[in-house]
Amino acid sequence: MKAEIVAVGTELLMGETQDTNSSWLGTRLPELGLELEWVTIVGDDLGRLTEALDRAWRRSAVIITIGGLGPTLDDMTRDAIAKMLGERMTVSPELKTWLEESFSRRNIRPMPQSNLRQARVIPSSTSILNAMGTAPSWWIERDGKILVTLPGPPRELANMWTTEIAPRLKERIPGQAIVSRTFKTIGLSEAALDELIRHVYDIPGMDLGVYTKPDGIHVRAIAKAPEEAEAVKVLEHAEAEIRAALGEYIWGTGEEVPPEKVGELLRERSYTLAVLESCTGGMLGAAITDVPGSSDYFVGGAIAYSNEVKLMAGVPAEVMDGSGVVSAETAQAMAEAARTTYGTDCGIGVTGVAGPGDSGGIKAGTVFIGVAVPGSSAAEQYSFPSRRPLVRGRAVTAALLQLTRALQQGQGHSP
Ligand code: ATP
Ligand code: MG
Repeated sequence: MKAEIVAVGTELLMGETQDTNSSWLGTRLPELGLELEWVTIVGDDLGRLTEALDRAWRRSAVIITIGGLGPTLDDMTRDAIAKMLGERMTVSPELKTWLEESFSRRNIRPMPQSNLRQARVIPSSTSILNAMGTAPSWWIERDGKILVTLPGPPRELANMWTTEIAPRLKERIPGQAIVSRTFKTIGLSEAALDELIRHVYDIPGMDLGVYTKPDGIHVRAIAKAPEEAEAVKVLEHAEAEIRAALGEYIWGTGEEVPPEKVGELLRERSYTLAVLESCTGGMLGAAITDVPGSSDYFVGGAIAYSNEVKLMAGVPAEVMDGSGVVSAETAQAMAEAARTTYGTDCGIGVTGVAGPGDSGGIKAGTVFIGVAVPGSSAAEQYSFPSRRPLVRGRAVTAALLQLTRALQQGQGHSP
């Protein structure tokens, strides 16, 4: 079934508030068998809001509005719905009492007159009380369509959705289950990856999405079937095919992120880690320590930006002089130095040219990453898109994933 969100608020258009509610709902609608086809953001304007609702009502089976349920005159979602449906609003005595009571509980007496706006209903609306705020939701079923209004504040919206709206929708929506899983890869180009999983597209009930992200290329497998058990079966079949095709290129699934993955692997092995960072200037350490509990395995390291600091941290002068500071040899020596200087099991060294300009004959975006794990060390060369923030961000991800791979593939492996 096709669903549509109408997010209301001029502040959303002005960029003052990000429409995080729609993204949040977007991840939850598939579980109910709803396909989100449109998100419309519209300002606090009765004419435009009515127009957006009218269009949504004509093309979608389930319409969810966000925001504009408050007591002030610029909150006009109810007004627009009434106008769009051609129904008259009246004040509901029950809602009025409920609102008055919730105000007197908070020792606000009398209730501001403007809050009466929130007690208004139309003939085809059923009111759902908001446990976290004053804005009740409308649940409307008419002409085979469902329209629900959700409050704007994210906490209120999430609570209303989970406790009231999702269960009601689940009852009304004829079975179509959608389940999905994301596989995160590194090391393959988008085209090469697509080639390898082409046959998975042909599995009936299967949809694939391939997305380039800062932490690699993601493959999202989406299975649809009338029953959930069936959809799960399709997804499992697809997963087996995807894993067979992509194998070692997959470094994680779902919500996994590189710093957490690294932490997990280090913790499993009781290994510790130190870093020597040149071109990432501390960003790698920041990413690693973003994970709660990282002190269990991360000891620290140095921002070894200048050659002097690299020397002090234990990188041999001969390596830097012989191969150049930005080289695979230096990156590997940095990883080894991190390990010996700080007495850890594993080390990472990052050296490169973040740009924007080339340096010493080396192209901007060229980064060498060394990884040392017990029993082996190696370095890899990367060329990232040559914009400084991108280069540094990708270098952090690549370093973490390179360590992930080294740990997963065990000792003695050189890439
Ligand atoms: P209230 O009763 O608080 O006025 P409301 O239902 O009228 O609630 P809005 O006035 O539209 O909702 O928004 C209230 C607050 O909720 C906004 O200031 C904003 O911080 C947040 N908000 C609204 N819409 C969204 C959205 N789509 N995504 C994230 N936050 C939002
Ligand atoms: Mg408001």
